[in-house]
Amino acid sequence: MSDVGGVWVYAEERAGSLRPVSLEILGRARAVADALGTRLVALTFGSEEATARDLARYGSDEVVAVEHPLLGRYDTRLYTDLLEREVRAGDPSVLLLGATRDGQDLAGRLAVRLRTGLTAHVTSLEVDPEKRLVGWVPGFGGGIEAGIVCPTHRPAIVTVRPGVFPMPLPVSMPCEVRWVRPSLDPSQLGSQRVSFEPKGTGVDLTRSEVLVVGGRGTSGDFDRLQKLAHRLGGEVGATRVATDSGWVERDRMIGQTGVVTHPKVAVILGASGAVQFTVGIEKAGFVIAVNRDPDAPIFDSADLGLVGDLGPIVDRLVRQLGEA
Ligand SMILES: Cc1cc2nc3c(=O)[nH]c(=O)nc-3n(C[C@H](O)[C@H](O)[C@H](O)COP(=O)(O)OP(=O)(O)OC[C@H]3O[C@@H](n4cnc5c(N)ncnc54)[C@H](O)[C@@H]3O)c2cc1C
Repeated sequence: MSDVGGVWVYAEERAGSLRPVSLEILGRARAVADALGTRLVALTFGSEEATARDLARYGSDEVVAVEHPLLGRYDTRLYTDLLEREVRAGDPSVLLLGATRDGQDLAGRLAVRLRTGLTAHVTSLEVDPEKRLVGWVPGFGGGIEAGIVCPTHRPAIVTVRPGVFPMPLPVSMPCEVRWVRPSLDPSQLGSQRVSFEPKGTGVDLTRSEVLVVGGRGTSGDFDRLQKLAHRLGGEVGATRVATDSGWVERDRMIGQTGVVTHPKVAVILGASGAVQFTVGIEKAGFVIAVNRDPDAPIFDSADLGLVGDLGPIVDRLVRQLGEA
């Protein structure tokens, strides 16, 4: 891979602040850029000067801040047009984005326009001895880890799941901020906003230190789990069965399709332990699992396992924690 334009990170701004996944990627991208012997560039679209200043503190050699009031909210067409323009001009060898809703939208469209490869939803990134970027993704229902390279086209576009890399610490190193102020008008927007109703809880499980997670075995009684989470000062998470059943909001789903978490403690209640779920808790410090089936695979991922009906166990824990 030759490195004219370096490793680029598309850093997402939401309501005036950077999304944590963008900083997580930036931390890892610094090591990738060093291994490739190239520059690290963070690119952001928006209207906030503070975002560019923040980005400059997380290890980039350069920040490209594309600024205009119309960029205050994500617009598929406008953002894709602008990112395509910047990437064609800057010619990076690698472009990394968060696997958020907007990041996925942008990455797919850009990959088609630039006729290049997209490795989606990676859980790990490394540079191989031939100096190629390898993105690792769970494949075949989580049964294998597949390493994907994009050897003949550039940039290699990669989306990274929130929570898979640690949040980097700010560093003090020189960083040049380049402002790009395009002239834009509303006719370039692909959509008009009539009204806006936020969906989901807005909870970010990747930041929670304690998680109480429920699966099908809860039969939908998440009030009970909520009480336990409250006593432990944590948040409620869920398996896909629980979110698909409408028992809790979709943004509480943990796993391959949901979020990858790294709490200090996770209490897993009535979940079988499918690999698509356990990839989301394998970075937990201590896992307690409750399941009435002694052979449930979740016990392979647990530090402490309790075989039994979760209802009385949770009620007792809530009572005892209350007394304590
Ligand atoms: C491409 C793909 C992506 C996926 N992504 C995800 C993902 O991101 N997250 C995810 O969670 N799943 C995901 N899945 C689905 C996943 O394969 C499993 O189907 C799902 O995780 C199972 O959820 P569960 O453990 O709640 O239900 P089940 O597998 O039905 O397990 C329920 C468990 O509850 C136990 N139980 C029942 N009653 C009680 C009780 N009263 N007390 C104690 N234990 C009890 C049972 O013994 C059983 O082990 C994905 C699947 C695919 C194909």
